[in-house]
Amino acid sequence: MATSPQDTPVEPAVEIESFSQLDLSKIMLRALKKLGYNTPSPIQAQVIPVALEGSDIIGQARTGTGKTAAFGIPILEMLDPVSECRNPQAMILVPTRELAEQVGQEITRLAEGCKTSITVLAGGKHMRRQIAQLQEGTQIVVGTPGRIYDHIKRQTFKTHDLWCIVLDEADRMLDIGFRPAIEKILRLCPKDRQTMLLSATLPPEIQRLTERYLVDPVRINCSSTQVSVDAIEQRYITVRPQDKLDTLIKLLKREQPRQAIIFCRTKRGTDKLHRILREELAVFPQFKGKKIECIHGDLNQRDRDRVFTNLRDGSIDMLVATDVVGRGIDVSTVSHIINFDIPMDCDDYVHRVGRTGRMGREGIAFTFVSADEGPQLTAIELNINKLLQRDSLDDTAPVSVASAPVDSALRSDSTTAKPQENSHAFSVNAEQADSANGKRKRLFPKRKLSERLARLGRADR
Ligand code: AMP
Repeated sequence: MATSPQDTPVEPAVEIESFSQLDLSKIMLRALKKLGYNTPSPIQAQVIPVALEGSDIIGQARTGTGKTAAFGIPILEMLDPVSECRNPQAMILVPTRELAEQVGQEITRLAEGCKTSITVLAGGKHMRRQIAQLQEGTQIVVGTPGRIYDHIKRQTFKTHDLWCIVLDEADRMLDIGFRPAIEKILRLCPKDRQTMLLSATLPPEIQRLTERYLVDPVRINCSSTQVSVDAIEQRYITVRPQDKLDTLIKLLKREQPRQAIIFCRTKRGTDKLHRILREELAVFPQFKGKKIECIHGDLNQRDRDRVFTNLRDGSIDMLVATDVVGRGIDVSTVSHIINFDIPMDCDDYVHRVGRTGRMGREGIAFTFVSADEGPQLTAIELNINKLLQRDSLDDTAPVSVASAPVDSALRSDSTTAKPQENSHAFSVNAEQADSANGKRKRLFPKRKLSERLARLGRADR
């Protein structure tokens, strides 16, 4: 049933500098103003008009680019009131419980001023409470594929009124093995729907998924790594493995971070560093009273939730973490990222570093590199098309560059990797930039949905 993505991008005609240029209701414009969102981010400027038209979308964008609002705003604009439809109308699938909570919260903020019922269906939470919420009537469901499929099987989540499905962080969902659950869910959803797929990367597996489940998708590309790490100063520090802890303490003393996340590779390493760091820093007056916490996949859900809440409200000063927090989680207060262990995967680097400098705020990231980790540093630099700046702590004997194979094609010949052009089009067709409406309305179904149904050979509904 599906066809390949439209190759022609949305024709840019009008620069989008303000949300009022998009065809949004007054209620929505007020909510955006209250949130302090003045200018649509590139992904928002491109996705919102296309989504309001009812088209399927493949959006390539990393986290921290404002993509939640990019799909959340059009969904909210097109919802029927819960009094008219008690079953979920929109479903957002995300890879992790934390991201589900975060997306639910962001959409709740965007829904300000218009009674909206949003239910988060993620694992690790009480099933009974979720069932009760679904029975009360809900308009938007956000959740992880495993738990959502569970509810569909039990028939506590009825899918027949769904008209919009979002697959957020699709590449990540496939990475962690959710493909079978996603496909089962999609097969149990109405065919006459709008599907938006958001992903940082589009590997062949994702393309196969889009070919099977999306109809004439419009492709929107905001994938440049600069979107998430451009505003972030990125440095590396060469260090011998046995000096890592000392170097970390010196770095923390020098930097006095407002809030830092220190990334480790393993759960055990995270626990150990957390314990030692608390002991070691306690003797320095400048760290007196600082709250140092840790997080990794072995923590129970309640502790994970507590740590995230405290990180967001600024009551945690330093967090020692595995990549659990590296993906998708939006904490705007983090000033410093320290890769105590260099990430093995280049994408993990971008996700970790992207925890700071959110939406253009300032941030700095340090990566510890030992003598045998030069190739990893090189791979990261090639991936982000940028050289990391070397840093050293005055009285730390640096590992000689000659012994550390950090010299790379990039370093010896920086012309081999030119930074990518940041070519985001902040624009939509002039005719789409219409005046704001008094109240929420579903914009697409009358015109667009009938076309979609005709294409699918279905005229019913
Ligand atoms: P996301 O990529 O959806 O996780 O969003 C990243 C952060 O940007 C969140 O804190 C949002 O609240 C914030 N944000 C989203 N859109 C805008 C905007 N247009 N202007 C300012 N901040 C925004």
